[in-house]
Amino acid sequence: MGMADKKKSVLAQGRSWLPVFAGASPAVMIFLVLFALLATTVEGVGLVLVYPILEIMRSGEEPAMLAQKSEIFAYIVRAFEFCGLPVSLASIMVMTVIMVIIRQGLTYGSAVNRAQFSYDAVAHISNRLFRSLLNADLMVVEQHRTGTLINAVMVECKRAAMLALSSLNVLASLIKLALFGVLMLCLSWKATVAGVIILGGVGFFISRRIIRRSRGLGSQMSSINDALGRFTSERLRLFRLIKLARTETVEQQLFSDKVHVLSDLNTDLTRSAARLTALTEPLGVIIALVALYVASQMLGMGLSEIGVFILIVFRLLPVMQELASNLQQAASYQSSLTYIAGIIDAAERATEQDDAPRDFPQSLKTGIRFENVSYLYPVSEEHNEPKPALEDISLLLPAGKTIALLGPSGAGKSTLIDLLPALKRPSSGRILFDDVPANDIRLSSLRAHIAMVSQDILIIDGSVEDNLRYGNPSATAEEIRQAARDACADGFIQALPEGYDSVLGERGARLSGGQRQRIALARALLARVPVLLLDEPTSALDAESELAVQQALERLQREHGTTIVIIAHRLSTVSHADLTVLLDKGRVVACGTHHELMETAPWYQKVVELQS
Ligand code: ADP
Repeated sequence: MGMADKKKSVLAQGRSWLPVFAGASPAVMIFLVLFALLATTVEGVGLVLVYPILEIMRSGEEPAMLAQKSEIFAYIVRAFEFCGLPVSLASIMVMTVIMVIIRQGLTYGSAVNRAQFSYDAVAHISNRLFRSLLNADLMVVEQHRTGTLINAVMVECKRAAMLALSSLNVLASLIKLALFGVLMLCLSWKATVAGVIILGGVGFFISRRIIRRSRGLGSQMSSINDALGRFTSERLRLFRLIKLARTETVEQQLFSDKVHVLSDLNTDLTRSAARLTALTEPLGVIIALVALYVASQMLGMGLSEIGVFILIVFRLLPVMQELASNLQQAASYQSSLTYIAGIIDAAERATEQDDAPRDFPQSLKTGIRFENVSYLYPVSEEHNEPKPALEDISLLLPAGKTIALLGPSGAGKSTLIDLLPALKRPSSGRILFDDVPANDIRLSSLRAHIAMVSQDILIIDGSVEDNLRYGNPSATAEEIRQAARDACADGFIQALPEGYDSVLGERGARLSGGQRQRIALARALLARVPVLLLDEPTSALDAESELAVQQALERLQREHGTTIVIIAHRLSTVSHADLTVLLDKGRVVACGTHHELMETAPWYQKVVELQS
C-alpha cells in the first residue's frame, strides 16, 4: 500500500465514523450515557446506604449518635433530613429498596435505548450504503462483485453498527467505573489507589494483547465473509453450469472449507472474549483483596466501611468485565467499518451529478453526433492494461432513422450504446444531441428521453404489469396493453394464468428467453421516448414474431419519428436499417447503407455471404 493509499483509507475510516453515529438521534445517545450515569449514581447511593444499616445493627446506637462519630454517617443523616425523611433503620432500609427499584427501571430503559440505538445504526448505515450505490456511477458498482455488495449490506452493516454500540458501551462502562471510583475514593483513597495501580498494570497488559488479537481475527472475519458472499452469489448464478459439469462435490468442498474457516474464526473470537472474562474476575478479586488488606491492616478501616467497600468492589467486577468485553468486541468489529467505509467512500466519490443546466432537445432534428469520442475502461483487477474500448469515434446517428451497429464481439458496440444515456461518459471527445452536448443535459432529462433494451435479463420479481410499468408509473392500462401488443407480448401474457397480474419470478424465471425479450421491449416502447436503443431485441424470437416486432418498430418510427439504434447480430436486422455502422476494435471501419457497404466493405460482404 502506497502512502497515498494509506492516507486515503485512514481518511475513509475517519469519515466512516460519521454515518455510524449520525444514524442515531442525538437524544438516544445522550439518554444512553445519562442512563448509565444515573443508574450508577442510584446504585452507588443504594450501596452506601448499606453502611448505616450495618452500623446501626452492629452498634445498636441511634443514628444521631452515630452521625457524630462518622463523617459518612453525618452526610447520610443530612441528606435524609434535606429530603424531609426520618432517619431510622426502617427508613434507610426502605430507601435502599427504592434505590434498587429505580436502578432496575433505569437498566430497563437503557436496555431498550441501547437496542434502539443499534437497530437505528444498522438501518442508517445500510441505507447510506445502498443510497450511495444507487447514486454512483455504474462502473463503480460493476467493479464490485455482487457477493461483496450483498455481504456489505447484509452482514458488515450489522457488524459496523455493533461497533458503534460497543463504543458507546465502553463510554458507559468508563462512566460507571469513574463514579464507583469516586465512591471508593471517598471511603478510602489509599486502598483505592493501591487497587487501581494493580488494575492498571495487569489489566492493561492482558487486554492489550487480547484486543490486538481480536482486531486481527475481526479483519480475517470480514475477508472470509466477503469471500463467502462472492462465492455463494456466483455459484447460485452458475447452477446450470455446475449441474452440467457435475462439479457439485468440488463446489461443496470449496463452500465447506470457507464455512469452516468462518466457524474457526468465530470460535477463536469467542475464546478471546471468554479469556478476557475469565481473567477479569480473578484479577478483580486480587485487587479487592489487596485493597482490603491495605484498608484493614495498614489503614485501620472500620468493619462497616470495609463491608461497603467489598460490596462496591463486587458491583465493580461486572462493570470491568463489561468494559473489557466491549473493548474486545469493538476491536473485532473495526474491520467491518473499514470495509463499509471503503465501499461508501468509493461510491460517494463517484456520485453522478444531476445538475447540468439544459433539458433534452424538444424534438431531435439533426441527430446524435459523436465527436472524436474515445472510451477507456477504468483499470481493474482483471483488466489492468488500459486499452480503449472505443477510439476516436466521429459519427452522426441521424434523427428519426434506424441505425444498425455491426461488428465482431468486443468491437465496442455495447460500450457505444452505454454512452448515449450516460451510463458511461466518454474519456475524451463529446456526444451532442442536435447541438446540445450530452454533458450539458440534466441526467434525469437525458435518461427520460432514451429507452434501452439490453441483452441482460432485466425482469423484476413482480407481476407482468409491474414489470411493464417500471419506470413509467403513470402509464394507463390501455397504454400498457398497446405497448405489449407492439412488442408481440400481449398474446402470451393473456395466455398466462393470471394475465397481466401473473407474477414472473426472479429474473423472469417463468418465461422463455423470447418472452422475456418481448416484456423488456414492451417496457421500452411504453416509454414513448425519442431515442430507442436495442441490443438485438429479436434474437430469441421466432420468424413470425420477429417480423411483427419489426413492423411495430417501423410504425413507431413513422408515427413518432423515433431514432432507433440497434446492435445487430443478424443480417435481417441490418437490411431494415437506414444506416449501418461497422465497428472493429473500437473504431468505425465503415458506415453506409446496405448497398453502399456491399460495394465498399469486404468484411460486410463476408458476413452477408456467410448468413445468406
Ligand atoms: P461488443 O458489444 O461489441 O461485444 P463491448 O463494448 O462489450 O463490445 O467491449 C469492447 C471492449 O471493451 C472489449 O475489448 C472488452 O474486453 C472491453 N470491456 C467491456 N466491458 C469491460 C469492463 N467492464 N471492463 C473492462 N473492459 C471491458
